[in-house]
Amino acid sequence: MIHCISCIKPLKSNQIIYSNKLEAKRHQTSKMVDTVSTETRSRIMASIHGKNTKPELLMRKALHSAGFRFRIHRKDLPGKPDIVLPKYRAVIFVHGCFWHGHNCLLFKSPKTRVDYWKEKINRNRNNDKKVTQALLESGWRVGIVWECAMSHNSRDIGDITKRFAIWLRGNEPFIEET
Ligand SMILES: [Zn+2]
Repeated sequence: MIHCISCIKPLKSNQIIYSNKLEAKRHQTSKMVDTVSTETRSRIMASIHGKNTKPELLMRKALHSAGFRFRIHRKDLPGKPDIVLPKYRAVIFVHGCFWHGHNCLLFKSPKTRVDYWKEKINRNRNNDKKVTQALLESGWRVGIVWECAMSHNSRDIGDITKRFAIWLRGNEPFIEET
C-alpha cells in the first residue's frame, strides 16, 4: 500500500504519490480526517523526520528535570537543533545512529537499496559536519549525544545529563557523547 509521504494516509491507486512537500502539505490539510491517533501519527512522523524521537524525548526530560530550560527545533539556526539553550549559548543534537551513520553496534547496514542508503547517510553526515561548523562559527556551543550512548542501561541517561550539565555551565565549545 502506498502512503502519502506527509500525512501517512493510505493513497488510493489513482492518487498520485506526492513528490514535494508543498503538494504533500496540500494533501495533508485537505484530508485531515485522521484515521490514526495523534500519538501514532507523531511516532510515525518521528521515524520519518527524526524529530521527537525516543532518545530525544529522554534527553529533553532529563535536562528539564535537572533544571535546564530550552527551546526545541529552532528553525532559525543551522540544522534546526533538537534542543536550544540560549542562556548557555548552546545547542544539543540527539543523533539517531542509523540516520547519522554512526560507526557503532546500533548501525545496521540496509540489505536492500544499498547505494541509495549509503548516499543518503553520507549526505546526512556531511550536513552534520557543516551544521556544527556553522554553529561554532556563529558563536554557539555544540553538543552531540548519540542514540547508542543512552541505550546501554538506564543509568546512562543520568551520567550523560551530569556531563552535559557540567559542559553547559562551562566554556567548552564542543561535546560529544557516544
Ligand atoms: Zn551509535
